[in-house]
Amino acid sequence: MDRQQLVKYSRQINLADIDIEGQQRLLQSRVMIVGLGGLGCVAAQYLTAAGIGHLTLIDGDSVDRSNLQRQILHYEQDMGRAKVDSAKDKLTRQNSDVSISTYAHFADEIYLNKNIPRHEVILDCTDNYATRCLINKLCFKYKTPLVSGAAIRMEGQLVSFEYEPEQACYECLATLFGEQQLSCVEAGVLSPVVGVVGSLQAVECLKQLLNIGNRSKYEEKHQIELMLYDAMNNEFKTFSINKNPACKICS
Ligand SMILES: [Zn+2]
Repeated sequence: MDRQQLVKYSRQINLADIDIEGQQRLLQSRVMIVGLGGLGCVAAQYLTAAGIGHLTLIDGDSVDRSNLQRQILHYEQDMGRAKVDSAKDKLTRQNSDVSISTYAHFADEIYLNKNIPRHEVILDCTDNYATRCLINKLCFKYKTPLVSGAAIRMEGQLVSFEYEPEQACYECLATLFGEQQLSCVEAGVLSPVVGVVGSLQAVECLKQLLNIGNRSKYEEKHQIELMLYDAMNNEFKTFSINKNPACKICS
């Protein structure tokens, strides 16, 4: 780290759990963000500001007027542009320490299979059940930590998977809740609710990279935790999720 970087990241370096060593680790880390919608825009901004070394952005969509209400890396003049290009523009201006590569297609198995092992943490910021299951399958295959977020109406959901042998995967969770195909197109979503969840995804990603926080707790409990955010009542609730012994992915 040079002198400018020591100043830039000083408020993180001052944290005992991070220090210079931890910041150095962040600057050398590689994170993949699948989906540059409401969740991905927010998570990408915080990870960029925090000094992640490399970000890979994946989205096959282009910016639509109806996105602007919550996808805060995309501006009015970006309408019609690929979301990954629009996002990369802003992020590059935000922090030149971060290198950014883009894949302007929807996540497919060949691409993910090749690229997930090249990253240390994957952020699932999609709103598509099939894609979520595909990401989970490949993260499980390579044991790459996955931070999954979702937001709809006035509710948010956050869950991290580390794929320890006794822990549930996304498929276990999906079986529990059933295939919820409802998207925010039909149901709607309050703008900052996606911001809350996207920020939480960035927090969990940084903790994974730094190997701090509740990881040891999960390992002891052999359980993962699902957090639900109820914006209407201003409540966060946490639920333990058990592995499904009949899961077709992890059992
Ligand atoms: Zn499973």
